[in-house]
Amino acid sequence: MAKEDTCEVLIAGGGPCGLMLAIELGRRGVDTCLVDEKPDTAFNPQANATQARTMEYYRRLGFAAEVRFAGLPSDYPTDIAYFTRFATYELARFRLPSARQAHSRATPLASGWSAAELPHRISQKYVERILRKHAEAAGAAINFGWRLIDFTDSGDGVEAAVEAVDGSACRRVRAAYLVGADGPRSFVRNRLGLRYTGATGIARDFMGGRMYAIYLRCPHFYEVASHPRAWMHVTYNRDRRAFMAAVDGSGEFAFHTQLRDHEDESLITNSDAHTMFERAVGRPIRAELLSRCSWTAGHSLVAEHFGRGRALLAGDAAHLFTPAGGLGYNTAVEDAVNLGWKLAHVVKGNAPATLLDSYEIERQALARRNTAYARALADSLAYMPAPITLEDATKEGEEARRDAGRHLHAHARKEFSIPGITLGGRYDDSPIVVSDGTSPPPDAMNQYEATACPGGRPPHVWLAEDVSLFDRFGLDWTLLRLGPCAPDATPFRTVAAAFGLKLRIVAVPGHTVRDLYERDLVLIRPDQMVAWRGDSADAADVVLAKATGRTNALGDSD
Ligand SMILES: Cc1cc2nc3c(=O)[nH]c(=O)nc-3n(C[C@H](O)[C@H](O)[C@H](O)COP(=O)(O)OP(=O)(O)OC[C@H]3O[C@@H](n4cnc5c(N)ncnc54)[C@H](O)[C@@H]3O)c2cc1C
Repeated sequence: MAKEDTCEVLIAGGGPCGLMLAIELGRRGVDTCLVDEKPDTAFNPQANATQARTMEYYRRLGFAAEVRFAGLPSDYPTDIAYFTRFATYELARFRLPSARQAHSRATPLASGWSAAELPHRISQKYVERILRKHAEAAGAAINFGWRLIDFTDSGDGVEAAVEAVDGSACRRVRAAYLVGADGPRSFVRNRLGLRYTGATGIARDFMGGRMYAIYLRCPHFYEVASHPRAWMHVTYNRDRRAFMAAVDGSGEFAFHTQLRDHEDESLITNSDAHTMFERAVGRPIRAELLSRCSWTAGHSLVAEHFGRGRALLAGDAAHLFTPAGGLGYNTAVEDAVNLGWKLAHVVKGNAPATLLDSYEIERQALARRNTAYARALADSLAYMPAPITLEDATKEGEEARRDAGRHLHAHARKEFSIPGITLGGRYDDSPIVVSDGTSPPPDAMNQYEATACPGGRPPHVWLAEDVSLFDRFGLDWTLLRLGPCAPDATPFRTVAAAFGLKLRIVAVPGHTVRDLYERDLVLIRPDQMVAWRGDSADAADVVLAKATGRTNALGDSD
């Protein structure tokens, strides 16, 4: 391990959640140590969809473009295409832009998209490498090959034991806080005695039950399945349903298929796995199997608490999704962004430990919302048995394929265009949000309505070609002074200085942003959520005290 014995925050788990948290903490000068039992970042790609909100967070840290241009070639289309089998009938196609098109489309000229970043299709393995690089650059000690094996919370700190996976060493680490970003089987969650609650064991024709993942190299795929290129390929037939994401655009794929009830994954041979893939293709094809494993779809689970005392949970350790909609990793990254600034404020003495109570209140509600949306999306795709004639070269077969195509196209629009889910998440019941008595628009999966109503994401505005209002926000707090008559911000500046908070004041004198935000002053949190809005700075002390957990919901001092 690079650092010894003490740190301010110890993170168990170097998946996207742990690595993003290490960046958030490291950038704020928090002495952070991360351990992960794998030898390096993930080899076996899982997530393939990075949502616009996550891209926005990467942009805030300065590496969105790096993520945008990693993975698939920049001109590779990111279509979602449905087939009876990959090389036979194409049923439906939902067209989505390549990385290059996405980069140029989210500009002031693009109509109707309310963010500086569009979603991005990229294997998690590329994202994790980039996150690791930036976590190290932020000063966090990143230790792959080390496992957390024990910890105790003494009330004023956490004493943990970590061991080298090769058995060569064992160390004790003392930290102010421990974060278990250690995935679905979380050692930290289990050790705290916290259960997942919600639905599990949901059986569906597809995406419900045991799934088999085969990571493979198959450059011939594009000749054998000669349809236009797609990022996500989905089969729909009566035999065995499957989905497969293009990983590098030149022959690497992540293939996932549903196991039948009687199939025992421990008995599946390389030859069996190859047959599963070949049957999904529908033509003879050679492929090199790089790795394979089973996993379970059909979870919709949220931990009963997101931590206890000085040990906190984030990412899959705190919630587990069925991958429909591509929300697990994205929700995990948001956890890290939410927790990062709060932990940094607490360990640096800029906010009381009670600020951390808001982490569970805000993120648990969000996790319940997002797991429910993912479940609805999986239901929409799964409860649809294929008709007998679907693969027949007959008139009936043609009709069945046309009907299936209509349903699948409608489904694709529902699953792969979800700004309502990804940009519309809110913290309305949070004790650190200062309500102004207004109500937000209704929550909807596929529609996002921009609003500066406190508790949600601030509305996006382009200020100039390629300059987003969000680009002007600070890493920590931002006070927007909007319109030609915005009041003096001195009270906020004075209180922030007294609390030790970094506050950036951003003036936007024109009417456009003022009209959209509906107030002269708007306080933006470090995680780019609206904490408060108003027309006078007189209550700056009350507002900042509440937003940093110094006062409870009634405004009384704790
Ligand atoms: C097939 C599939 C497709 C998916 N597609 C998407 C998608 O498109 N979009 C999306 O948002 N999500 C998707 N997901 C979900 C996504 O992969 C996960 O939600 C995401 O990896 C969670 O990140 P995490 O950092 O919380 O946990 P993980 O990625 O599980 O990382 C946890 C880390 O903790 C480490 N660890 C565990 N125990 C210890 C210990 N005791 N000590 C040290 N280290 C430990 C592990 O080695 C691991 O690296 C998909 C999942 C699957 C299965």
